[in-house]
Amino acid sequence: MAVPDLTGRVALVTGASRGIGAAIAEALAGAGAHVVAVARTVGGLEKLDDAIRAAGGSATLVPLDVLDFEGVDRLAIALADRFGKLDVLVGNAGVLGPLSPLGHVDQKPWDNVMAVNLTANHRLIKAMDPLLRRSDAGRAVFVSSGAATNIRAYWGPYAVSKAALDALVRTYAEETRSTAIRVNLFNPGATRTKMRQQAMPGEDPQTLPTAADVAQHVLTLVDPAFQETGRLLEARSGRLLAFQPPA
Ligand code: NAP
Repeated sequence: MAVPDLTGRVALVTGASRGIGAAIAEALAGAGAHVVAVARTVGGLEKLDDAIRAAGGSATLVPLDVLDFEGVDRLAIALADRFGKLDVLVGNAGVLGPLSPLGHVDQKPWDNVMAVNLTANHRLIKAMDPLLRRSDAGRAVFVSSGAATNIRAYWGPYAVSKAALDALVRTYAEETRSTAIRVNLFNPGATRTKMRQQAMPGEDPQTLPTAADVAQHVLTLVDPAFQETGRLLEARSGRLLAFQPPA
C-alpha cells in the first residue's frame, strides 16, 4: 500500500486513546501529519504520544469527551488559531452499547450509543467543516461497521447508530462534492480491540487482524490525490464500495 506524503498536514482523530483510532493516529503521524488526538483517557493518549514521538512524528493531545459539544466547538476555534485549517478529520470514537433484545434496552444506554456514534459526529462535522474548507484537500473519514447492514438480533443500538452514521456521512459527501473536501466511510471489519473483545468474549483475539493492520487502509482515503467521495472502504477486502453490502 502506497503511503501518501502528509507532511505539513493537520489530522484530527477521535477515539485515539486505544484500538483502531490510536493505530490510525500512528499511521497518519508516520506519513508526516501532525496529529490532534482526541479521547477521554489521558494515559492512552500519552502512550500514543510516546509512540508517535519515538517514530519521529508529532501530536497534540486533547483529553475531551466527544459528547462535550461546546468543547468540540472550542477545539475548532483553537485549531483555527493555531493552524488556520484542518486537512484530515477521522471520526472514529465509538461505543458498542448494550447487546440485548430491543425491549430490554433502557433509554440511557440507547441515548448514549446514538450520542457517541452518531450525534457527536454531526457536531464534529458542524464544528470542523469551515476548517476542512480552508484546506486545499480536506479529507474526512468516519469509521462505520458491517453491523450497519448485516442485521443481527441483539445488536440493535449499535447497528442503528452505524446505519444512521452512514446516512450522515453520505449526506455530507454530497454537500461537499463540488468542493476540495472528500468524505468517505471506513469499515475496519472484525479487529483485535477492546470493543471486539467486549462484543465477542469467547473469540480468540489472535485470529483477528490488529488495529495497525486495518489502520493502514485509512491512508488511502486521506491522500490529497484521492478523489472518490461518498464511498465506503472495506478493510477486509480492500474494496471501495458505493454503500455497505449485506454480509
Ligand atoms: P475501542 O478499543 O473500544 O476504542 C474506542 C475509542 O473510542 C477509544 O479511544 C475511546 O476513548 C473512544 N471513545 C469512546 N467514547 C468516547 C467519548 N465519549 N469521547 C471521546 N472518545 C470516546 O474500539 P475500537 O474497536 O478501536 O473501535 C473504533 C471504531 O471502530 C468504533 O467506531 C467502532 O464502532 C469501529 N469498529 C470496530 C470494529 C472492531 O472489530 N473492533 C469493527 C467495526 C467497526 P476513551 O474511552 O479514552 O474516551
